[in-house]
Amino acid sequence: MKILVINAGSSSLKYQLLDSETHDLLAKGLCERIGIGGHIKHTPTGREAYSADINMPTHAEAIQTVLDLLVHPEHGVLNNVSEIDAVGHRVVHGGEEFANSVLIDDDVMKAMERCIPLAPLHNPANITGINACAAVMPGVPNVAVFDTAFHQTLPPKAFIFALPYEYYEKYKVRRYGFHGTSHRYVAERAAALMGRPLEELRLVTCHLGNGSSVCAIKNGKSIETSMGFTPLDGLPMGTRSGAVDSGILEFIMNREHLNISEMLTILNKKSGVLGISGVSSDFRDLDEAAAQGNERAKLAIDVFTYKVTKRIGSAAAAMGGLDGVIFTAGVGENSAELRAQIVDGLEFIGLKLDPEKNKTRGKEAIISTDDSPNKILVIPTNEELVIAMDTAEIVSKLKK
Ligand code: AMP
Repeated sequence: MKILVINAGSSSLKYQLLDSETHDLLAKGLCERIGIGGHIKHTPTGREAYSADINMPTHAEAIQTVLDLLVHPEHGVLNNVSEIDAVGHRVVHGGEEFANSVLIDDDVMKAMERCIPLAPLHNPANITGINACAAVMPGVPNVAVFDTAFHQTLPPKAFIFALPYEYYEKYKVRRYGFHGTSHRYVAERAAALMGRPLEELRLVTCHLGNGSSVCAIKNGKSIETSMGFTPLDGLPMGTRSGAVDSGILEFIMNREHLNISEMLTILNKKSGVLGISGVSSDFRDLDEAAAQGNERAKLAIDVFTYKVTKRIGSAAAAMGGLDGVIFTAGVGENSAELRAQIVDGLEFIGLKLDPEKNKTRGKEAIISTDDSPNKILVIPTNEELVIAMDTAEIVSKLKK
C-alpha cells in the first residue's frame, strides 16, 4: 500500500510517502509558513529536491500542493493521487483515550478534541491536518498514531504523581510519556537484531535528540518513561530543563519578576544544555566548544550524560534486570563520544562497550563487546515507517 504520512504543526506540515510492503520512502517534504505565505521543499527519493514559494492560506492548500507535487510530471512519484491508499497522521497526545493507533471517525475526532487541553499547542494543529486531508482527499481513510499511546501500559505506580489524587481524577494529571512510536520501533528492531522475542526482553530505549526520553520496556510493554504530563519532564534537553525541583520556580519568579508563563518559557526554551552552556542547544556545537576548552559546554554535556546514565540504572531497577540498552535519535545515533560517556561505569549492570564497534554512525549495530552480558545497540529511529505500517494494518482490515 502507498501511505502518506503527515505530521502537521501550526504553520508547517511534514510529509512522507511510503510503500508499506517494501518499506521504501518514495518522497518526502516540508511545507512551511502556512497561513503567512507558503513554502514547500519536496524531495522525490533519488532525485533532486524541488523548492518553491506557493501560497498556502490554510493546511488544505498545503495538502493540495503536496498532492500536486506527488503527481507532477517532473517531480512526482505517482501517476494519480488515487494510488494513495490511506493517510497516517502523527498526533502528539492521545491522553487516556488511546492506547493504540486508530481509524479516524467522528467519535475519534471528538476524543482527540477532548485531549486538546493536554497538548494545547500540538493537538489542534494535528486535528487541522486531519481535517485538511478529509477535505482534499474525500474517501481516503485517515489513521491517527499517537506519541503517548505506547506508554498507556505504564502501571499506576509509575504514572501517578504524588499530588492530591483528585487532580488525577478531575483533570487527568498523570505521567503520559512521549516519543512512544520511536521507543516502540527501536525496541522491535533491537529484538530482531538480538535474535530474541521482544516478549522476553527487558530493554532500555534512549531517544536522545533535541527532545530526549528514556523508556523501560519489559516484555514488549512500556512500564516506565522519563517524560511526564508534558514533554518538559525527565532529562535535560536542547532547550528544556527536564525535571527540576518545583520549589525553584517561585524563588526565581520573585527575584526575576516573572509570571508563570514567562517562567515556563524559560524552562522550555532557555534551559537544558543551552541554558547551562550559554553556547547552543545543538550537541555538535557543544562538542566543538568543549573540545576548544569551553568549560560550561563540557559541564552541559556532563550533566546530560550523567542524567541519562542514572535513568538507565533506574529503568533497569524498574524492570528488575536488563537485557539491552538502545540508543536512537540525533545524538544517540550519531555521537560515539556521548554514548561512551553514558555507559561508562555501567559494567556493574552488564554493559561493556566495544570502542571499535561504537564508531558506527546512523546505522543499526550492536556496539557492546562479544562477552558483554547485556547488549548495547544503535538503532536509527523511523517514526514515519511505524505510522505507515500501523496505517496499512488498520486499513487492510477494513478492506477484508
Ligand atoms: P533530533 O532531534 O533527533 O533530530 O536530534 C538533533 C540533535 O542531534 C542535535 O542536538 C544534533 O546536534 C545532534 N546530533 C546530530 N548529529 C550529531 C553528532 N554527530 N554528534 C553529536 N550530536 C549530533
